[in-house]
Amino acid sequence: MNSAISQRTLLQPRSLTDALSMLRDEGPVVPLAGCTDLYVSLNFGTLKDTRFLDLWRLRRLRTIEMRGDRLSLGALATYTELIRSPLVRRRLPMLAAAAREIGGVQIQNRGTIGGNVANASPAGDTLPVLAAADASVVLASAAGTRRVPFTAFYTGYRQSVRRPDELIVALEIPPVRGQQSFRKVGTRAAQAISKVVLATVVGDEPRVALGSVAPTVVRARRTEAALAAGASIEEAQQTLIDEIAPIDDLRSTAEYRRRVAANLLALFWNGAARR
Ligand SMILES: Cc1cc2nc3c(=O)[nH]c(=O)nc-3n(C[C@H](O)[C@H](O)[C@H](O)COP(=O)(O)OP(=O)(O)OC[C@H]3O[C@@H](n4cnc5c(N)ncnc54)[C@H](O)[C@@H]3O)c2cc1C
Repeated sequence: MNSAISQRTLLQPRSLTDALSMLRDEGPVVPLAGCTDLYVSLNFGTLKDTRFLDLWRLRRLRTIEMRGDRLSLGALATYTELIRSPLVRRRLPMLAAAAREIGGVQIQNRGTIGGNVANASPAGDTLPVLAAADASVVLASAAGTRRVPFTAFYTGYRQSVRRPDELIVALEIPPVRGQQSFRKVGTRAAQAISKVVLATVVGDEPRVALGSVAPTVVRARRTEAALAAGASIEEAQQTLIDEIAPIDDLRSTAEYRRRVAANLLALFWNGAARR
C-alpha cells in the first residue's frame, strides 16, 4: 500500500550550513537526495519516517574535483555525472563502469553516490569500488567534519557509523595504482539486483572487494595477501572461495556466488597480466 505524502514534512535548506543546523535542531529528519531508494519504500508503504531534509539543491555537494592528490566526489554526484566526468574516467574507471550498470537512465540521472553509500545495501554497486579504492567517507555535522575509512564505515547489515546528525558530504579517493576492473553479475545485464559484484585492482598491492556475498561489502584480505606473496591465480581462487561466506537467497545460491567470484578474479587477474 502507498504511504500518504500529505502527512510528511519536507525541509528545504538553502545551504549545507542550513542543512546541518536543521539536522541538529529539528531532528529526527531523514536526508533525501535523489529519492530513488526512499521512493521505493514510500511506494511499498514501509517508509515510517515523516520528516525529510531535501539535499537536492545543495549544488556544492555535486562537485567532482581533485583535492591535492585525492579525487573528491561530492555526495550528490549522480551516476550520470560520474559517467561523464573526465576525472572519474581517468582516475577511477571502475567507478564509471559501475555507474553505467546502475538502473536505467532515469535512475542514473537521479541516483547519487552518497545515497548508494548511505543506503548501505550489501548489493549497492558502487560499494566494492569504493572499498577497493581505499576511499574515505567525509561526514559533516554542525559540530565539524570527520573522515572515516570506507572499510570501517559499515558495522553490520545496513548499519554504519554515520550519526543521525551527520551527512555524507563526499567520498575521497587516494591515487589508485594498478589495473582496475569491475563486474556486476545479475539475472540480466540491466535493472537487476546483483548476485555478485567484484571490483579489483591488479598491481603491486592487489585489492579485491566484493558485494552481495556478506551482510556488508567486504575486502578479501587473505586473497589479496596470497596474490601479493606470489601465489598462483588458482591458489588465490581457492583462498577466495574459502574466505567468503555468501548465503543462499532468492537471487542465488552460495555455491554459485563463490564460483562466480573465483571466475571473475581469474578473468581480471589474467586480463591484467596480458596488458
Ligand atoms: C528501478 C531502480 C533500479 C536501481 N538499480 C540499482 C542498481 O543497479 N545498483 C544499485 O546499487 N542501486 C540501484 N538502485 C538503488 C538506488 O538507485 C541507489 O542506491 C541510489 O544511489 C540511491 O541514491 P539516492 O540519491 O536516490 O538516495 P535516496 O533515495 O535519496 O536516499 C537513500 C538513503 O540514503 C540516505 N542519504 C542519501 N543521501 C545522503 C547523504 N548525503 N548523507 C546521509 N544520508 C543520505 C537517505 O536518508 C536514505 O536513507 C535502484 C533503484 C531503483 C528504484
